[in-house]
Amino acid sequence: MSFSLLTEIVTGECPSCDTHSLLVNVGFGTYRCVHCGDTLEQKVNGVIKYIKADKNTKFGVRTDRPDG
Ligand SMILES: [Zn+2]
Repeated sequence: MSFSLLTEIVTGECPSCDTHSLLVNVGFGTYRCVHCGDTLEQKVNGVIKYIKADKNTKFGVRTDRPDG
């Protein structure tokens, strides 16, 4: 039995609780702050920033497939 779920844990500045916290990758470039439990979206724009994800956040679902 193998698990394909890759759990990635990084550290980052959480904008929601203003804490340098552990962030757990929950997929689609989003991370969950272990301190306050909020979901953050990773923005890579020269530097890695995290913004709070909410219901208006567009998750980057890949639509480009190598073949149909
Ligand atoms: Zn937080």
